[in-house]
Amino acid sequence: MFEALGDRLTGVFDTLTGRGALSERDVDAAMREIRKALLEADVALPVVKDFVAKVRTETVGEKVIRAVKPGQQVVKIVNDALIQMLGGTLSDDDADMAAVRKSAELNLNAKPPVVILMAGLQGSGKTTTTGKLALFLKDRAKKKVMLASLDTNRPAAMEQLGMLAEKSGAGFLPIIKDQSPTEITTRALKEAAKGGYDVLFLDTAGRTTINEELMADVIAVARIAKPTETLLVADALTGQDAVETARRFNDALPLTGLVLTRIDGDGRGGAALSMKAVTGLPIKFLGTGEKLDGLEAFDAERLAGRILG
Ligand code: GDP
Repeated sequence: MFEALGDRLTGVFDTLTGRGALSERDVDAAMREIRKALLEADVALPVVKDFVAKVRTETVGEKVIRAVKPGQQVVKIVNDALIQMLGGTLSDDDADMAAVRKSAELNLNAKPPVVILMAGLQGSGKTTTTGKLALFLKDRAKKKVMLASLDTNRPAAMEQLGMLAEKSGAGFLPIIKDQSPTEITTRALKEAAKGGYDVLFLDTAGRTTINEELMADVIAVARIAKPTETLLVADALTGQDAVETARRFNDALPLTGLVLTRIDGDGRGGAALSMKAVTGLPIKFLGTGEKLDGLEAFDAERLAGRILG
């Protein structure tokens, strides 16, 4: 991920490092290259504009251009701006950084079973991600997890979740034919409480497009289940479409965060880089492969480091 962007930015820095004072013209030329690099990475235009304006102001404003090694300082300014664009906040204080990292984790502060609602378009990787998160919580947080499928239109999707539950060592709500999503939700809440589960994942039906029926179903389920987390799973490979999907879902159903899947195949990274600025929502996890261990907690600082190499 981000290979092309990383290469392009490194190219820009190479023209700046190893030099003495920079002129405003040098800076403007560098900003034009950074702008091009971000656009080629498929970052949303308003996000690119803000980014470049901020980096330029800091570069020119802090007398960086008259510094002994201006190039290094530009790298630092770009690095910090990337962290902020990815949704991190900057602080030299370790405790503060720990708090920031923690905010990317899942909120499990409720009376068990804590409900996590999974939403997303069909094919986004929603069901796979549900299995991955179940394994993550079971292994890392030692939680007892139950999975329930609400995809009443697609029996195969229900069975797929059942298999993932088995693989991840989570419990699975038995499938009863012809129940509605809200009926399944009520039954899942009861069974999860009875079985002493800490966390209940509700895997909502995926559709090929956002439509009113899809939203009405998810909203009705959310009303009953009162989730602490409503996560949208979006496919990073769809770039700005993923960002638009997140924006539209969030308008209809307040989301608490995002999981971006198929990062392993995403060389550009535009969705990850635009998501926070466009939607205001934190990316909480990245899907990095088809297998159940292909999940990474999102860390803006680490990701920025990866871009700049
Ligand atoms: P759903 O329709 O949204 O529930 O999507 P699925 O969970 O069935 O996933 C669709 C396909 O994407 C499956 O073949 C998954 O193995 C694959 N997939 C899901 N997440 C990832 C990921 O992070 N990386 C890769 N490479 N494939 C993924």
